[in-house]
Amino acid sequence: MRSPRRKPAPASRVGRSSKKRAGSLAKKRPGAGSGVETSELEILRVPEWAQYDWLVHGFSTRSGGVSTAYRPGEHCGELNLGFTATDSREHVVRNRELFVRALIDAPGRAKRGADRRKTAETTLKLLRQIHSGLVHRAEALVDASVMSTEPGDMVRGDGMIATGPGMLLGIQTADCIPVLIVDVRQRIVAAFHAGWRGTLARIVERGVGRLRAEFGSQPGNLMAAIGPGIGPCCYSVGEEVQMEFRSQFCYADDLFQEVFDLDPIKEKYPMLFLTARAPGHSNLGPSLHLDLPEANRRQLLDAGLAPEKIHPLNLCTACDTKRFFSHRAEQGFTGRMLSAIGIRPASA
Ligand SMILES: [Zn+2]
Repeated sequence: MRSPRRKPAPASRVGRSSKKRAGSLAKKRPGAGSGVETSELEILRVPEWAQYDWLVHGFSTRSGGVSTAYRPGEHCGELNLGFTATDSREHVVRNRELFVRALIDAPGRAKRGADRRKTAETTLKLLRQIHSGLVHRAEALVDASVMSTEPGDMVRGDGMIATGPGMLLGIQTADCIPVLIVDVRQRIVAAFHAGWRGTLARIVERGVGRLRAEFGSQPGNLMAAIGPGIGPCCYSVGEEVQMEFRSQFCYADDLFQEVFDLDPIKEKYPMLFLTARAPGHSNLGPSLHLDLPEANRRQLLDAGLAPEKIHPLNLCTACDTKRFFSHRAEQGFTGRMLSAIGIRPASA
């Protein structure tokens, strides 16, 4: 027996930053001498978090930026924020600058001059993500920063916690689930990378555990956002993944669903596909889909967060490759998005 699926939250739960404002920064700005036009830079935010003036957060999309590697011939560049083999380093650096500036210069903020100075004071902290349960103090990491740092120089891990201002904790994804957490009372922020292996390693639960044990965070003061990632609609996995989850979580069966993938050709001409294949190997058989966002929501609940303080964006990267980079849907030929959270430096 499978429990009924959760209904996705209404689209209004997802905060689209003022495209006008972010766009005004990025629009038609030639990228690093490339002459590429950029589209409007879209950042997704949690509307409920706008009340915290000291908090900076957002989830990038493909739009904005100067990269042309993944949609060659297109009029506008894209916002690839990861140093991938296909994209030029110069473009990624420029994209990171645009993204950080758009994040800091949040909608509705009046002091633009001060925000500009804060952009310069803010460093981007990144990890060499390895699908682990490892969580680090961001203060202890070198400034990976917008500019450089080879992956080999970066600290390995999948979670970061920061207690001070001036750092943006960035998680790179193209299907995996980014999770951002904030302790609104103590002004502590954290960011996590949760693919299926990291989820299995309880990266988010461990992260909240560290917030509680080392920083005295009370779960009642914690809020979380589950960003864009591959959804249960698209994430088919092997049975071995289900076995691994069953060995770790008593609620594992709630996270998997047998799905008959829609194929219009098969639907129209089913007889064509009724071949002499052995039972259990039919093309028409169901595939097993994993709900990674829900798995991480369960970990946040188990860690003590109130359901109303967990904000899943419910946006599937593989369903919408116009808007998001998706490793699965684009067979690995894709860029990376960044999900970032930080504490705004005090006014100068
Ligand atoms: Zn999907």
